[in-house]
Amino acid sequence: MIIGAGIAGIATAQALSRAGAGRIAIVDSGTPLGLTSDKSTECYRNFWPGPDRAMADFVNDSIEFLHHYTHESGNQFQLHQRGYLFATARKEELAPLRRQAQLNAQYGGGSLREHDGNGEHYRVSPATGFEPDLDGADLITDQNLIRQYFPYLSHETIGVLHVRRCGVLSAQQLGMYLFECARESGVDFVPGEFIGCDTSAGSVSSVEIVTKNGTEQLPTNALVLASGPHLKATAALAGSALPVVVEKHVKISLADGKGVMPRNAPLTIWNDPVDLGWTTAEREMLAESADTAYLTKPFPAGVHGRPVGAGDQVYLYWTYDCPVSETPEFPIEADPYYPEILLRGMARMVPGLTTYLDPMPRPYIDGGYYTKVADNRPLIGPLDVPGTFVCSAFSGYGIMAACAAGELLASHVLQRELPSYAEAFTAARFKNPDYLRHIANLSGSGQI
Ligand SMILES: Cc1cc2nc3c(=O)[nH]c(=O)nc-3n(C[C@H](O)[C@H](O)[C@H](O)COP(=O)(O)OP(=O)(O)OC[C@H]3O[C@@H](n4cnc5c(N)ncnc54)[C@H](O)[C@@H]3O)c2cc1C
Repeated sequence: MIIGAGIAGIATAQALSRAGAGRIAIVDSGTPLGLTSDKSTECYRNFWPGPDRAMADFVNDSIEFLHHYTHESGNQFQLHQRGYLFATARKEELAPLRRQAQLNAQYGGGSLREHDGNGEHYRVSPATGFEPDLDGADLITDQNLIRQYFPYLSHETIGVLHVRRCGVLSAQQLGMYLFECARESGVDFVPGEFIGCDTSAGSVSSVEIVTKNGTEQLPTNALVLASGPHLKATAALAGSALPVVVEKHVKISLADGKGVMPRNAPLTIWNDPVDLGWTTAEREMLAESADTAYLTKPFPAGVHGRPVGAGDQVYLYWTYDCPVSETPEFPIEADPYYPEILLRGMARMVPGLTTYLDPMPRPYIDGGYYTKVADNRPLIGPLDVPGTFVCSAFSGYGIMAACAAGELLASHVLQRELPSYAEAFTAARFKNPDYLRHIANLSGSGQI
């Protein structure tokens, strides 16, 4: 019995059914994929520079599954390996970018190639689909190459790191493809809310679900929580306390009718802090009010965006202000200034976008929660009560990681051999004082 028909629950059902695990049902109180999994920016990356290789190995396995399903489905979910492009106008940012790429190479992410005018060949990304042997990263400081391949970037850009085994896909269509495969192999879908389970015999024996017919007890010997931002509450119902928080994230999409960003541009990330570029008069006016003074201060590095779909939309996204809480609140509300802040931030990197500042086209705003634990790694494996499992806490990488996560959870349930990274993701790590001390001293979370 799997609670949650987000990408994690669906991938788990698919992995279990593929392994012939017997009768499987997914329970969800909402629309499949409708809570978080259709709100993402729909990108994937094998760029995980530390602190060890667990995340890199895990997501690399997941990308292998994605490639397999791309072939199997005829690329029904539009996976395109265009890369992640980190750009900077600061000389001092080149060394950290190089270091991250070298670390990523150590963890199996493929080698770093440097292009400083030395004549080394730069390989263009495929506009559609993927190329299995294209990986590693290219650090380009040759200005001619940057202008040739990324002409839409600010002319102040002095370096870009193009990470190659990365790209975009349609999360909704990937999820529906896996859901259909699971349904075809006999997985049931039960619309209803999970409100408790019977563990009185020392292990789980049934779950309690509120459906349109009332409350039902459904027997099971294995319960998997894939409940996304409701993980903390559902884990409590299953007898486990998990140290989970939720972090609000909002993105916008905007019509790029003038084609400022090429339709095959990679996910493009500005690695420098940004001043929002007000005129002197605007700046003075904004600084006068306590509500708007923050708009005149520099914003942190990391604004990013990419073209999406077959039309003219671009996604814009910036994780500079993401309130953390224990309980999610819906609907998601956004700072009314956020769309303009995002557009101004992106326009620092892609100056052509200033054309949309006045008047700004009406953006589509949506978002959801990153469900997280302190090390920003997932929770996959058994919980305290025998027969209960978790496959959740996927923060900002649940779409790209879901396939390997489902497979790992199936291995736990079916007691198959586990991969090297399995232990790094069990909930038991948060009961180990040495591990808690270790993560307290780590810097960086792998979040972009
Ligand atoms: C703005 C944003 C951008 C992102 N960008 C990316 C990206 O580029 N790449 C990437 O890989 N990831 C990205 N993510 C992260 C990714 O979207 C999530 O990690 C992933 O969708 C989580 O999936 P899930 O199945 O765990 O949770 P969800 O999709 O939230 O699914 C949980 C399901 O459980 C159900 N449920 C909960 N409680 C109950 C209950 N008591 N009874 C019945 N049903 C219940 C809910 O209704 C829901 O359908 C992004 C997320 C956000 C918010």
